[in-house]
Amino acid sequence: MSNETIFTKIINKEIPADIVYEDDHALAFRDINPQAPFHVLIIPKQAIATINDINLENRELVGHLYYVAAQLAKEYQFAENGYRVVMNCNNDGGQTVFHIHLHMLAGKAMGWPPYTNTLKQQD
Ligand code: 5GP
Repeated sequence: MSNETIFTKIINKEIPADIVYEDDHALAFRDINPQAPFHVLIIPKQAIATINDINLENRELVGHLYYVAAQLAKEYQFAENGYRVVMNCNNDGGQTVFHIHLHMLAGKAMGWPPYTNTLKQQD
């Protein structure tokens, strides 16, 4: 089964994206539907479908995505004020593109928790 997604096409420059960082292992580009003033997706060039597919061979690559976030935070002056980095997994996590990506959100204060609590209060 092919694990190609829309992100493979962005990596291969088959469809356009507003790229803010690229090296041999990772790519970062602005989210098409931004949820913060600065919202970029940091992805490995190697396709890994979900967090569940992180293993001994690719775990350093995942760490590299955080390194890229730290570089972008410095470059775009968000390091001191702070920012949110989040990776969604499968249905309950809200994942819609099955090629892992760090969402890096910055430029305003984030809320917490990141969900609407629909559970009934337990007395
Ligand atoms: P997920 O829901 O999987 O955590 O995040 C997927 C993200 O990819 C969403 O925030 C969505 O807006 C973004 N996205 C989906 N398709 C494209 C695209 O073609 N280009 C860009 N730049 N972002 C995309």
